[in-house]
Amino acid sequence: MLFKEIPGNSLVKKQLVATITQNRVSHAQLFSGNSGSAKLALAFAYARYLNCHNKSNEDSCATCPSCIKYNTLSHPDLHLVFPVLKAGGTKSSVSDNFLKEWRDFTLKNPYNSLDNWTNSFGVENKKGEKGSIYKDEAVSIHKKLALKNFEATYRVILIWMPEQMNTNAANKLLKVFEEPPLGTVFLLVSEDPEKLLPTIISRLQKIHIHDFNMDDLLGFFKKENVSSEKAKQLVNLTDADLGKIIQLLMDDTQEIDLFNLFSSWMRLVYQIDIVNISKWVDSLAATGRKHQNTFLLYAIKMIRECLIFNFANKLLLKTNQKEFDFVSKFSNFIHEDNSVLIIEKLENSSKAINRNANAKILFFELSLQIIKLLKVKRKFAIN
Ligand SMILES: [Zn+2]
Repeated sequence: MLFKEIPGNSLVKKQLVATITQNRVSHAQLFSGNSGSAKLALAFAYARYLNCHNKSNEDSCATCPSCIKYNTLSHPDLHLVFPVLKAGGTKSSVSDNFLKEWRDFTLKNPYNSLDNWTNSFGVENKKGEKGSIYKDEAVSIHKKLALKNFEATYRVILIWMPEQMNTNAANKLLKVFEEPPLGTVFLLVSEDPEKLLPTIISRLQKIHIHDFNMDDLLGFFKKENVSSEKAKQLVNLTDADLGKIIQLLMDDTQEIDLFNLFSSWMRLVYQIDIVNISKWVDSLAATGRKHQNTFLLYAIKMIRECLIFNFANKLLLKTNQKEFDFVSKFSNFIHEDNSVLIIEKLENSSKAINRNANAKILFFELSLQIIKLLKVKRKFAIN
């Protein structure tokens, strides 16, 4: 990742570059930000710039021997640490066992989420765990630190989602965060720094990465040649989360008519038309996991739009005319006593799909649950 490949964030890029050109590199840094922000991408660009042999005032050269190794995240002095699962018979639960998979995952989409990473363990992650950084990992880091740097001036130990570190591992690493060996830089990339031990937080230099703003995203869409209509749809569907946007672009599932699929489903569910619900389920089940996930994302968005229609300023609605017409009627059935439950069911279904659940059974059961939830009456009438 080069700085210039990351949309927006111009101020923080300048600050990061300045710490290097002015020789103020802190040995333990925390890049924090929401899911879908540029925190990991910026940490990669920073680590690369730190070691580039031929850097400009703004960015790495992309062609020196160090940069070439950074292109594939395979520099011998770049150590990658991330949450893993104790999956089917692995001897020790350390990141190095899953390095190839994580590199692929991150190189394709450096804005991707922890959920998507642990979901990529597929059936091995039946319970939907978030993964952990175990004590074994701390032992492995200590072993690496005992060796000299292979070739780089700065050896980088990048820890993605350190909040998933268990207490044993965290305690074992406290000392090295405070006083790493010479030429070692820790970069912690976190979505939930509040969960880190205060004793760790106090040892880190903090850099907060803001969410992408609309201009940043427009720049991204222009570069990727995404039409403005499709861009609008992607932003609405993902709440402007670049990680999810890239995922959807890679899946290329935009050609399905999400509105038709959703509105006909809700109609059938409302009419309790079991025969046609069953046909609807069959046709969705035949489309594959990626389509089904995009559909569930859209369904969640539409339920949220109904809530906005009912309880908030209608100017906040992100609907087109067709969707607005639908929401203005359907929102009668969505209220404080069923909306949270419906959204929860949709989110859980998405997780189950990622873990290879049987789509036919899943969508049929989901339909039955929504039939029940739509019948829930409001406790209090609102005007
Ligand atoms: Zn370079």
